[in-house]
Amino acid sequence: MKADRMSNPFRRPQGAPVIYGHRGARGMWPENTLESFRLLRATGAQGLEIDVQNAAGRVPVVVHDPHVPMQIARDASGNWLDASGPKIHELSVAELQSYDMGGLKPGHAYGTRYPEQKPLKGARIPTLQAVLDWAQAEAGLVLNIEIKSYATRTDLGDPPEMLAEDVLRLLERFALTGRVVISSFDWRVLTALREQAPEVARGYLSYQQHDDFLTIEEGSPWMAGLSLAAYDGSLPRMIADQGARCWCPYFHDLTEADLKAAQDLDLAVNVWTVNDAGDAGRMIAIGVDGIITDYPERVIAELSVA
Ligand code: MG
Repeated sequence: MKADRMSNPFRRPQGAPVIYGHRGARGMWPENTLESFRLLRATGAQGLEIDVQNAAGRVPVVVHDPHVPMQIARDASGNWLDASGPKIHELSVAELQSYDMGGLKPGHAYGTRYPEQKPLKGARIPTLQAVLDWAQAEAGLVLNIEIKSYATRTDLGDPPEMLAEDVLRLLERFALTGRVVISSFDWRVLTALREQAPEVARGYLSYQQHDDFLTIEEGSPWMAGLSLAAYDGSLPRMIADQGARCWCPYFHDLTEADLKAAQDLDLAVNVWTVNDAGDAGRMIAIGVDGIITDYPERVIAELSVA
């Protein structure tokens, strides 16, 4: 296994992880907008994490929520939505791009979480194609495409196999091998990717030990039928056995023993979402391969301290 170590382009030397701006850099600029991705590059962050799902007509677009988010979107008249908007997969790209995504709704609890965010008025929901066009010309940029899919719902978007197929069809037009990893909490998407294009790097997102949204437990629909018991309860072994390049755990879930187990299996370990400088320093010190953060500048500053 060790002989293969250098073959995984997402592994990094101890203490030098890739810093991924989460949804661009949500703490600094409006999330999942091309304008914010351009600004992210100036922070020195090498990585970018984005959320992808299909608009109507199977066109992949970059937006997080399954509905047009009232906490971010203004309609074509410039008015804030007073309720959650239509489903993303039921609107055309043109309809989606009628919304201004460049700010935070005043008074909404979501906005209070990002008091430093600067508006980018007029920013639109980008297509994945537009982001890939840009990314290809950005030397050294590492892109984590998170496909949003819901293992417990069938009404919020296209089926996982379809999402995998549509993202792959786009990716084929670009020369981004080694710079793109496709991740998902819904491992049915990753199973479909493995079947359709095993050479494309996959990242397995996991969330454990939390009551509100738990993806890893025996019989979980998010695990695509896999059983931890078949791997003596070892999440790293289960993920490595899928031919994964990356494991993407919630950072509070990660133990040093699992980190070592994963890296010994040639998995890159990319943690999310690390926004506190102390937490970032700890993740750097234990030797993760990637840190996904809303505040890339804050985490980059910790790199020089660690
Ligand atoms: Mg995401």
